Amino acid sequence: MADLGYTPTTGKWERVIIIGGGIAGLMTAKMLSNYYDEVLIVEKDQLPDKPENRQGTPQAFHPHRFTQRGRKITERLFPDYQDDLLKLGAPSSLNKTVHQINQYGSKVGPYPRNDVKFSRVILEWVLRCRVQKAPNIRFIIKNEVVCLLPTLDRSTIIGVQVRERGQNGMEQSLFADLVIDTSGRSSKLALWLEELGYVVPKPDKLRVTLGYSTRRYKLLPHQMHLAEKYDVINIAGQPANGTFTGVFSFIENNIAEAVLYRPGGNHPPTDAKEYERAFASLPSPIISDLLKNLEPITSPRGYRVPELYRHHFEQMKHWPSGLLVLGDAFCIYDPIFGQGMTVAGMEVEALETCIRKQKKEPKQNFEQIVLQKLQDIIEPAWWLNIANDLQWEGVDYVGSEPLKGISFGQKYLALFLEQATIQHDWMLYGMYWAVNTLSLSPRAIMNPEMVMKVLSVSDEGKKLLVNLSQAYGNPLEDVLDQILPSFSQLSYSQS
Ligand SMILES: Cc1cc2nc3c(=O)[nH]c(=O)nc-3n(C[C@H](O)[C@H](O)[C@H](O)COP(=O)(O)OP(=O)(O)OC[C@H]3O[C@@H](n4cnc5c(N)ncnc54)[C@H](O)[C@@H]3O)c2cc1C
Repeated sequence: MADLGYTPTTGKWERVIIIGGGIAGLMTAKMLSNYYDEVLIVEKDQLPDKPENRQGTPQAFHPHRFTQRGRKITERLFPDYQDDLLKLGAPSSLNKTVHQINQYGSKVGPYPRNDVKFSRVILEWVLRCRVQKAPNIRFIIKNEVVCLLPTLDRSTIIGVQVRERGQNGMEQSLFADLVIDTSGRSSKLALWLEELGYVVPKPDKLRVTLGYSTRRYKLLPHQMHLAEKYDVINIAGQPANGTFTGVFSFIENNIAEAVLYRPGGNHPPTDAKEYERAFASLPSPIISDLLKNLEPITSPRGYRVPELYRHHFEQMKHWPSGLLVLGDAFCIYDPIFGQGMTVAGMEVEALETCIRKQKKEPKQNFEQIVLQKLQDIIEPAWWLNIANDLQWEGVDYVGSEPLKGISFGQKYLALFLEQATIQHDWMLYGMYWAVNTLSLSPRAIMNPEMVMKVLSVSDEGKKLLVNLSQAYGNPLEDVLDQILPSFSQLSYSQS
């Protein structure tokens, strides 16, 4: 036994069980392998022996991109992982052209970093291969966790019950000092806790009724230059007139992927002819013109998300020792913003900080401290999702608490983006992007100095400033503190 420390559960750091071997599970396992003698990943799927789609992650066919922050966190956990992606034929974005087209205009420029683009399948493959090499991490595959195992007084989780998938359906009990649920959007954690008698708050929900439609294309030999030229082309959907978002980019082996997206119930088509027509009807013809000459290798495939949820496990008066949850099992986001894997990485970092503190100064309520930190990380991403998606007709919020600052945020962010685009202000544009990709706190662009700068250049902005001071008084700093969430600095202080 390498390191006898303390957890409220058993006082030991011997074994941790992770439910689910998706992206959050793999990141968590890698980090925890430095602190626990043994890490067990229980995964319900048979894991493929080459990069392949699998049943438990149906989202994997659809484009998956890292934010800059997500990439950095992954690099720390899996040094040089991008080299493994490159070996599998994934392209680097360096110096390729990025097209960002929104309702105010377009920004076209070279991609400045050597970031690699990939399909979710090869990303998971690369991370899993690394995890499989760790001597103290073990996979238990084709086994589904069916419930939590508590102590007699139910105050502590001491393991999980698993059922083998297939005809036999054999069950067994696995025991550990800590159980972490990373089973994603199909997590049954709330139900399992209720079955043990815990009172679980209802999650906040955004009824978003969003649809994705993704199709893949291959480049013919004379078209290879296209993969050298384009990084991403993003035509943003416009809530005011209901246009789809359309995105075009490349993944490994010169395969192009195109996605149509829209929240609010009017789903993008999955019929090939209608799909082409929908691309042709976007405000810019650039993607449609490219697709006309490419050879499809799949039909357009749909993915629907009826609602986004944000659990509030941190608010539970009683929470069992020995149990944690992170990734999509805690909160999910609108996939078009590409934040889910980044939030999972940020959560893993926060958990590591908490573990280090726990080893030095053990606290009885360790798990509740962690849950609160994770919630602090979730908040900015959730808030940005709501501010964006509530602009669409047909999207509703159902939550325990009233939303803070959304109406102001929507107007302000729209004016911010307009100014950044029309004035070709790369500094503003970069900040807007950094906030939406979770590298900067929303308060980095919603502080008195920035708000004055952005709002004082247009009549609409000036009117918004007057309305603010009439409704909430002065100074602006106090007004912003009053109307906006606190956006805890924790989530921005680590990486
Ligand atoms: C269409 C779409 C596009 C997306 N695009 C992006 C993007 O561009 N960028 C980004 O950052 N994020 C994106 N996301 C989000 C991203 O997929 C997730 O946030 C990320 O994978 C982290 O998820 P996770 O590990 O928590 O869950 P998952 O990756 O879904 O993994 C959960 C795992 O748990 C297993 N499992 C489930 N239940 C059990 C059980 N009872 N017992 C054992 N195993 C179990 C499953 O088989 C699976 O392997 C997208 C999501 C969707 C839906």
